[in-house]
Amino acid sequence: MNNPCQPITTKTWKRVSFARDCTGYVDDLEELGDICSICTLIYFDDCQCPGPTEDGMEYKTFKGVLMARPDPTMTETVNNEQITNE
Ligand SMILES: [Zn+2]
Repeated sequence: MNNPCQPITTKTWKRVSFARDCTGYVDDLEELGDICSICTLIYFDDCQCPGPTEDGMEYKTFKGVLMARPDPTMTETVNNEQITNE
């Protein structure tokens, strides 16, 4: 047996963007910001970040940060680069 941890790909993991974390206000009347805090694009429009509940996505928390990637059981394009997780 080698590494007990499952290989984790970092290249395909993307930080999940939560609506509640959005910053900035295109419309001052909106209670929540609508600028993605990660990519700084408009959350519901141009933002390409994964959301917290998308079909076909796999979710994992790294150091308290929720990340997402296409579910490897649904895609063949997962590489096996590992991250070091102290
Ligand atoms: Zn984004």
